[in-house]
Formats: sequence, C-alpha cells, structure tokens
Amino acid sequence: MTTVVLLGPPGSGKGTVSEALVEKGFSHVSTGDMLREQIRLKTPLGVEAKKRLDQGKFVSDDIAMQMIEGLLEDADVDQKFLFDGFPRTLVQAEKLDELIRTKNLILEAVILLECPNDQLVERLSGRQTCEQCGAVYHLSYKPSAVDGICDQDGGELKSRTDDVAETVRKRLEIYTERTAPLIDYYLEKGLIHSVDASRSFEKVRHDIAVKFG
Ligand code: ADP
Ligand code: ADP
Repeated sequence: MTTVVLLGPPGSGKGTVSEALVEKGFSHVSTGDMLREQIRLKTPLGVEAKKRLDQGKFVSDDIAMQMIEGLLEDADVDQKFLFDGFPRTLVQAEKLDELIRTKNLILEAVILLECPNDQLVERLSGRQTCEQCGAVYHLSYKPSAVDGICDQDGGELKSRTDDVAETVRKRLEIYTERTAPLIDYYLEKGLIHSVDASRSFEKVRHDIAVKFG
C-alpha cells in the first residue's frame, strides 16, 4: 500500500486536486468527507462531530486515527491512497509514521498546496458541493451549468455549514496553529512537493499531472 498526502489550508484546492488524481488511480480518502457522512447519517459520532465542525474545531486525534486505521484494515495490498485533510496535527503525523512502520504502508510524497489567505476566504465563501457525489464547484470560479445542480449526476449543490465567514476565520487560525507545523515535519523527511495553488485550475492541475501523473 502506498499513500500520498495532500496538505494545505482550507480552500487551497485539496478536494479539487483529488478529482484529477482519482483519474490516475488513486483512492481518495477525505477524513472531512467521512465525518460529514457520519453527520448525515446522524450516528453518535456524527452528532458529536457536527458540534466541532460547525465551530471550526478539529475532532480528536483518536477519532481521526480510528477512521484511517479502519480504512487500512480493509485495504488491498496494491492500493494507492490519497489522504486529503489527514494528518492534520503533529500527533496524527507521528501516529501515521507508526502505521507506516507496522502496516507495510509507504508514504510517497506530501503535496503542499500554497495559497494566500485572502484567496482562501474568497474560495470558501463561494464553494458548493454535490450532496450525492461530492464534486466541488464555485459560484464564480467553477459554476455548474444549471444553478444548484451537479453537472455529473444531477445532485443538489449545497454550501457547507462551516464555510460561513466567522468559522472560516477560525479554521484558518487553527490551520496555522496546528497543521502548518507539519510542513517542517515533512520537509525534514524530504517528502514535501510545493505547488503554487493560487493559480488557475488548469495550471495547478498541470503541475500535479507532471509530478504525479
Ligand atoms: P477543508 O476543506 O476545509 O480543508 P475538510 O473537509 O478536510 O475541510 O474537513 C472539515 C472539518 O472536518 C475540519 O474543519 C475538521 O473539523 C474536521 N476534520 C477533518 N479531518 C480531520 C482530521 N484529520 N483531524 C481532525 N479533524 C478533522
Ligand atoms: P479544500 O479541499 O482544500 O478545502 P476545495 O478543493 O474544496 O479546497 O476548493 C475550495 C473552493 O475553491 C472550491 O469552491 C473550488 O471550486 C475552488 N477552487 C479550487 N481550486 C481553485 C483554483 N485553482 N482557482 C479558483 N478556485 C479554485
């Protein structure tokens, strides 16, 4: 099993880049999507998680690790994962290293999507996601052909409840405090590939395809 990690602040384009990499054979693993599924199903985990997500706070490291460990247990040996939004704290990164040592998992690279804060705020305030397939749109930068309807499967497009201004501000602060330290952690391991994610969809996609296509 191998994995590539997508690292970057909320709105930097992790979900969008994942769509391109899935076409190259990666299995997309978004801990955010997994949590939103639990919220939709109103499981006990979902009910707890909703409170934290709506305040822009992380769920505990234990919950994040349980989701990833459960997934790896059911995985095929030749599977290539794309971790989107995991690890998000130093504790999670250290625990991922433990899994790498014990589970025959290879961490190939960490793609760092870099984008200035003012653009992140713009992107998140217009983000829309398909309720059925998770495809990501933007009201101005990537509108769907028909307002509110997914081009791919006709699903309804929704704004995320945590993409409101106050929560976005909080999430960006928490990113700087708790996730940005992972950049040095992975730089020291020689795994970081930086991408200037502030450019157009086409340019970002091209860079990713050159490096990982
Ligand atoms: P974004 O698109 O803003 O990067 P995600 O969809 O990846 O957001 O995650 C949404 C929310 O889910 C996060 O704000 C956080 O509350 C929670 N979350 C997702 N992944 C993790 C994780 N690995 N550890 C803790 N909390 C997480
Ligand atoms: P993340 O998963 O990192 O939170 P997303 O992939 O969901 O980020 O992107 C956030 C928003 O920004 C979405 O509405 C998406 O359509 C838009 N977006 C992503 N990449 C770009 C880009 N290169 N230029 C303009 N908008 C973008």
